[in-house]
Amino acid sequence: RAKATGRQRYAIFDEHLHEAALKLLELEGDLRRALQRQEFEPYYQPIVNLADGGLVGFEALMRWHHPARGLSAPGEFISIAEETGSLEYMDWQIYDLVCRDTKRLSARNAYTTLNVSPRHLRAPDFDQRLLELMSRHGVKPGRLRLEVTEGALLEQPEEVNACLGRLREAGVLTLLDDFGTGYSSLSYLHRFPLHGLKIDRSFVAELRSGESGGSTAIVRAIRLLADSLGLEVIAEGIETEQQRYQLRLLGLSLGQGYFFAKPASAGDILARFGMEGGTPG
Ligand code: C2E
Ligand code: MG
Ligand code: MG
Ligand code: MG
Repeated sequence: RAKATGRQRYAIFDEHLHEAALKLLELEGDLRRALQRQEFEPYYQPIVNLADGGLVGFEALMRWHHPARGLSAPGEFISIAEETGSLEYMDWQIYDLVCRDTKRLSARNAYTTLNVSPRHLRAPDFDQRLLELMSRHGVKPGRLRLEVTEGALLEQPEEVNACLGRLREAGVLTLLDDFGTGYSSLSYLHRFPLHGLKIDRSFVAELRSGESGGSTAIVRAIRLLADSLGLEVIAEGIETEQQRYQLRLLGLSLGQGYFFAKPASAGDILARFGMEGGTPG
């Protein structure tokens, strides 16, 4: 009996594995087809001044318009895309569209940020390729910033350091994304040419009013550290007025989150901020 049960369990397990493998294969094929059909599009989320909600920038976030499944966010496909090597191509499709949009988006002096996957920074010609793309679209370097995660800084740190250094010289600033979630070796903060950091939304989500422990202490410590290193700080994932208020009390001045605005298409954003016509950025 026990044997039979065991075998049955294996059979079920196998079936699940088989199903999962098929789904993966399907997704892989879908991604390749989506690349050819250019189904990827950047959405934009405003980065604002916490004091008055004033616009300072937009983070570009990849979305996939699947003909049958509709719109999906990176959580559903980005790790597969990265493993199979598609992400690099998807990213360049997105960067091209972002550069196209940036001139109009910057009509109100806002900058745009690009999320950069670790693999890019290890490509020897990443900076050159990006600068070429920008000049082809007439994007001024000060209008575009990069967001990199700690993972991107870990491998081949010398090359990455040089690449980010060249970009900074050209006027393209870099922010460290999801700060506090990775290895968070503090030495990154001064070893790499970073302009600022983004506090991961997990810390913002745990902020509670009147409490001095936990996330409140961490956010305060990050802010003090950033201040002393001359780094700008942006808080991610602000969903409530209370979180905005708490962050202000902790001395933060910049942030983004659903409380201010959800990511939206370029068309929606331009309409909302009254920038349809735009002026050359
Ligand atoms: P991220 O760069 O940390 O982006 C922030 C994520 O938080 C975005 O998820 C955004 O939609 C979401 N978000 C913003 N405000 C709130 C909020 O108030 N509450 C909550 N719960 N979430 C909020 P999204 O768009 O699904 O992107 C997920 C991740 O995928 C990004 O994290 C980034 O690491 C990656 N990613 C996005 N676009 C690109 C891209 O074009 N290229 C690459 N390589 N990676 C990208
Ligand atoms: Mg980001
Ligand atoms: Mg982030
Ligand atoms: Mg994140």
